[in-house]
Formats: sequence, structure tokens, C-alpha cells
Amino acid sequence: MPAPVPTHDTLHRRGLMFILSSPSGAGKTTIARRLLEADSDICLSVSATTRPIRPGEVDGTDYHFVSDAEFDRMVEGDEFYEWARVFGHRYGTPKAHIRAGLKEGQDFLFDIDWQGTQQLSQKDKADVVPVFILPPSLEELHRRLVARAQDSEEVIDGRMARAQAEISHWDGYDYVVVNDDVEECFIKVREILHAERMKRKRQTGLIDFVRELMRGA
Ligand code: 5GP
Repeated sequence: MPAPVPTHDTLHRRGLMFILSSPSGAGKTTIARRLLEADSDICLSVSATTRPIRPGEVDGTDYHFVSDAEFDRMVEGDEFYEWARVFGHRYGTPKAHIRAGLKEGQDFLFDIDWQGTQQLSQKDKADVVPVFILPPSLEELHRRLVARAQDSEEVIDGRMARAQAEISHWDGYDYVVVNDDVEECFIKVREILHAERMKRKRQTGLIDFVRELMRGA
């Protein structure tokens, strides 16, 4: 009897920590949403944040919107995988179900900044796949921030200033994709995810199948 061809369900591997970072407005949120719709084997790590909820956002889906006091309590309770201050607010990755999920082979998508990426890379280098999305130009970035009409002029100016600082950390990432065309960018990001899943070091569960193939018919 030949060994059954391994499938996602039978092949045990650790989950991936697929990180998408970019300056805000570079299209990362759209790419993340497309990836989650297209791939049922990856789910979003929902961060906690102290920043106010924006129109259209859903508590518990986009973020866990928490008070400063609640965030303090979570930090003291060691509930975060990582956390950082961004634009004067705090953002953190709750670790409760992530560690267990990774062990079970669940892949997670992280929409976090370079500070969070650094912290996760230091803790779990082997599981982390860091991807940086660049805007095609600063003019286009500004146009996108204005077009999404979510923030005041003052906030947009702050985001533009921070964009350049964020871009300066691009060398902490293994993959870099320029988002000139959102569809093309999405396809490239999905290809990175697919390729990373097939890395031999992640597919240790293939060993019995390969032994069988080497034994011959
Ligand atoms: P926004 O307020 O536009 O949703 O997010 C602002 C920035 O915070 C984005 O760069 C986003 O990736 C980052 N961010 C969101 N959640 C987290 C998190 O849990 N940890 C870290 N380090 N950054 C985060």
C-alpha cells in the first residue's frame, strides 16, 4: 500500500507568523483582508489598542478597543506577545491563543509595525515571516490617506512624517513588495505565504511519506 499523499489535515507542521508591515496608507489593510478572504488556513491576530475606534471598524474584529487602564492591566498580567506605542496610542498582540494555535498548525496574520516585528522575530525567529509593503511614492501615500477620509489633516501630517521613519526599518524584513497595483501586490504576498508553507524545514511531517517514496514501489 503506498503511503497516502499528505494533505493539510494529515501533515502536521507548526503554524506561521505572517507579518505585514507598512506605513499606514500603503495598502496593507486591503492586502490583509484579501489574504484572509482567499485563504481559509490563515487567521488574523486581532490586536488590542487604546486608540479610538474609527467609523466602520468593529470591536473584536478589527481590534479589541480597550481603555488605558485595561491595557495597563494586560501589560502587568503579561498578556501580550509584544506591544508598542504608535502615534501616541498603544497597540499589542494578545498571546493567549496564538501560542497554542501555532502548535496546532494554525497560521496567523499580523498587521503590526516594525517594533512589534522586531520583538516577534527575537522571540520566535523560525516561525516569523516578515513582509514589508512599500508605497509607490510619498505623493501616492498622501493621496491614499486623504482619500480614505478617516483622519484629520493633523493626523495625516503625523502619519506622513512617521511613514518615512517606518520605511527606514524596511531592512528588518525578509520580503519587500511595492504596492503599485493592489491586485498584483496581493498576488505576490499570497505567493510568499504559499512558498513559506512549502519550506522543507517546516514540512518535517513529510518524512514518512518521503521514506516510502524512497523505498520504491
Ligand atoms: P492603525 O491605527 O492605522 O490601525 O495602526 C497604526 C499602526 O499600528 C499600524 O502600523 C499597525 O500595523 C500598527 N499595529 C497594529 N496593531 C499592532 C500591534 O499589536 N503591535 C504593534 N507593534 N503594532 C501594531
